[in-house]
Amino acid sequence: MTTFPQGLIDTHCHIDIESFADDLPALLERAGQRGVEGFILAGYIASGWSHMVELSEQYDCLYAAPGLHPLYLHLHPADGVQQLDKIAAAGKVIAVGEIGLDLLEKNDNEKEQRILFEQQLAIASAYQLPVLLHVRKAHDQVMSILRRTGFSGGGIVHAFNGSMQQAEKYLEAGFKLGYGGTLTYSRANRIRKLAAELPLSAIVLETDAPDIPLFHRREQPNSPEFLPEILDTLCMLRKEIREEIAAATTANALEVLPKIRKAGDA
Ligand SMILES: [Zn+2]
Repeated sequence: MTTFPQGLIDTHCHIDIESFADDLPALLERAGQRGVEGFILAGYIASGWSHMVELSEQYDCLYAAPGLHPLYLHLHPADGVQQLDKIAAAGKVIAVGEIGLDLLEKNDNEKEQRILFEQQLAIASAYQLPVLLHVRKAHDQVMSILRRTGFSGGGIVHAFNGSMQQAEKYLEAGFKLGYGGTLTYSRANRIRKLAAELPLSAIVLETDAPDIPLFHRREQPNSPEFLPEILDTLCMLRKEIREEIAAATTANALEVLPKIRKAGDA
């Protein structure tokens, strides 16, 4: 029996965190009614992983991507990478994430970020998992690390904010580009222009819930149930019909996260 999603997939959200706990079953129900049927839980600190994996086992529609986020270096335990090595084999772990380089807020620890990133890429390779990338002000550095390490597992560049040239390099390297709440801001010209001009095969949807609220819901934490509203904006920007865009984003996500199908078949 296959249970992998036919509807939309939120390729990056944090609904495993405490603030969603009481509402989670109702939230998944509401999102499902709006056509959102798959949810990738992106990890950021080791202490959250076991709960994330438990939830993914409890709910068919949830999938786990444990990883050590570059902005939380100070919270990562000394054996974080070894812990990742253990949990990466769990059944519904479908990617390693969110990992990468963030040189926007702080760039005096680039070396530590890079070492951690490379160690996690090695684990993803060992378990044949794709990665969910978090990259700010560091696309060229990340690309050169992917090249140098020979990482070939592909994945998703979450909240993509680079140039067309950088987008093309990621696509060649087997990645899709994640678009979320930022798209709903009319002042996000550069991101909107790229989302309109990229091939449809490049794009996946995400909310990053509870972060990056939608423009018309700025007072509210973001939630996967709002994913169709991000799709609405994408449809406004692109020339294809809605059904085609929706189906493509799901097919694109399944292409780079193939374990979703296998986990559904299990
Ligand atoms: Zn995130």
